Formats: sequence, structure tokens, C-alpha cells
Amino acid sequence: MENGMKQITIHRDWCKQCGICASFCPKKVLELVKGYPEAVRPEDCIGCMLCEMRCPDFAISVKTED
Ligand code: SF4
Ligand code: SF4
Repeated sequence: MENGMKQITIHRDWCKQCGICASFCPKKVLELVKGYPEAVRPEDCIGCMLCEMRCPDFAISVKTED
């Protein structure tokens, strides 16, 4: 993808809707929509992986496309 866009995948089956991922994202990429996180600003993702590391249920993963 162009300009190093990150691919953010949310596995709803594993997600318990705690919102930790959204809280820890320093760029406010993630927002809870009807309880589940969504990447509402994927272009702002810096690939810091905090959301992935902080999710207690391994329900979110970030892939860099460089
Ligand atoms: S990798 Fe970092 S910037 Fe990107 S969505 Fe996760 S917490 Fe936010
Ligand atoms: S931290 Fe994990 S379990 Fe919690 S809302 Fe985010 S993806 Fe779902």
C-alpha cells in the first residue's frame, strides 16, 4: 500500500470489547463502534504496536506494508 499504510486487523471472535486498544493508541486511530474497535483513522497509524501488545486477548494485529 502507498505511503507505508498499516493494516490493522480486528478479530471480533476474540475481542471482549474492553477498549484497551483504543485507549492506548497514541494517534487515536481506533474507536469503538457498537462496542468493537475499528480503525477509523488508519492513515494516522504509526505502527507502534501498542494496541496489539496491550490487547489481553490477542484480538488485534498490525501489519506494516513497507
Ligand atoms: S499500531 Fe500504534 S498507532 Fe497504530 S493503531 Fe495500534 S496503537 Fe495506534
Ligand atoms: S484491547 Fe483487544 S479485546 Fe479489548 S477492545 Fe481492543 S481488540 Fe478488543
